[in-house]
Amino acid sequence: MPAELVAIAHPETERFPLDEVIYTSPVSGSLLEIQLTGERPGAEALKRLWRERRMSNDPLDRSGVWRYRELLPFWPDFGHVVTLSEGNTPVLEAPHAAAFAGLDTLRFKHQGYNPTGSFKDNGMTCGVAQARALGMTRVACVSTGNTSASMAAYASAGGLQPIIFIPNGNIAYGKLAQALEYGARTLQVEANFDQILALVRELAERLGIYLLNSINPFRIEGQKTIMVEMMDQMDWQAPDWVVLPGGNLGNTAAFGKGLREMLQWGLIDRAPRLAVIQAEGSSPFVDLFQSGGCEFTPNTKPETLATAIKIGDPVSWPKALHEVYGTHGVVERVTEQEIADAKAVIGRCGIGCEPASAASLAGIRKLVAAGVIQPQEQVVGILTGHVLKDPDYVYRYHTGALDDPHGQRLASTFGNRPTVVPHDADAIAALLG
Ligand SMILES: *Cc1c(COP(=O)(O)O)cnc(C)c1O
Repeated sequence: MPAELVAIAHPETERFPLDEVIYTSPVSGSLLEIQLTGERPGAEALKRLWRERRMSNDPLDRSGVWRYRELLPFWPDFGHVVTLSEGNTPVLEAPHAAAFAGLDTLRFKHQGYNPTGSFKDNGMTCGVAQARALGMTRVACVSTGNTSASMAAYASAGGLQPIIFIPNGNIAYGKLAQALEYGARTLQVEANFDQILALVRELAERLGIYLLNSINPFRIEGQKTIMVEMMDQMDWQAPDWVVLPGGNLGNTAAFGKGLREMLQWGLIDRAPRLAVIQAEGSSPFVDLFQSGGCEFTPNTKPETLATAIKIGDPVSWPKALHEVYGTHGVVERVTEQEIADAKAVIGRCGIGCEPASAASLAGIRKLVAAGVIQPQEQVVGILTGHVLKDPDYVYRYHTGALDDPHGQRLASTFGNRPTVVPHDADAIAALLG
């Protein structure tokens, strides 16, 4: 097999076969990463092949993940893959958001266009393929929402039983609705995300259930193709910055790995800098970065309305830190108000996204104002999830009824309130001019 699992802290000494069911090193406890060991195909031939596949009707070729399968050489064949035509997400110009952020131009890569409405699908198609390759029949995850929606869909599509654990009262409605609709066995636990993750890791081992949290290195592999697809869409001309929200930091780890491999394979000649944005009330990675990377202190009471990034003890922080340093990147925090307003601006572009995604634009604006990002630089913001994931938030913002986690009312800066009118054509005509 042209790939193996290596412990990131001890890559020379701790190596494991790909068909072992492990998530962290049983020796040192270190996170694991898949290392590609086979021969590297030529870059130009690969780029041509990947372009040609866009015109194919083969489901593997139509997937925005499996189109790039030379970078995912984990099984003798791809017969275990379950695809729902994930990926293929657009890179969109957003002039109004650019002006808001103080940039000449700005593009968004919108992962909310995925089959279940978030970037989790890019990783889940790969994680579920591995579950099936291992002969597992049940898969589990703990999730603030999008991971469970995605896992439920891919597991059910692939004939596996999905079991999801959700923190009580902490999940956006659209996401829970999806998990139920896609047939997940759903368990609500009276504990926060980080506590439940520890619980589920124990249960997975005891009951022989395959764990599909972002600790799972196969999910990271699927998500790395988001960067590959982006570069393909940009004709392999790297932007100066890629800006994304950070929660458990799996996506940061995945993006960095994708960029490293594209450099190694000669697909790009320089990498963009990664900027990771966290919500103020849930920003242990910002603290770590500001401390010079020396000391990680989990936040035991993470708080933010952006539930997808409400994570106080992100499992992938060692990988993410390595990737941020590797691209000369930065890490920044934004307030609830900044997220809410940035989200409304993305909406006004006709694009829309869920709250966590808007941290990207809020962060870009802050980094431009601080002189870290220059106005003429090429920036791609990652929008991680779909606007309909959290409709309650949207309605409250626009009607001036959105409170932050401390009960402080947020300003409805770009609010768009419905107007009550009489059943009277003259009155309505007068109103509309
Ligand atoms: C999962 C998720 C995030 C956070 O990604 P991490 O990989 O955990 O850092 C951000 N936004 C959305 C919409 C998500 O679903």
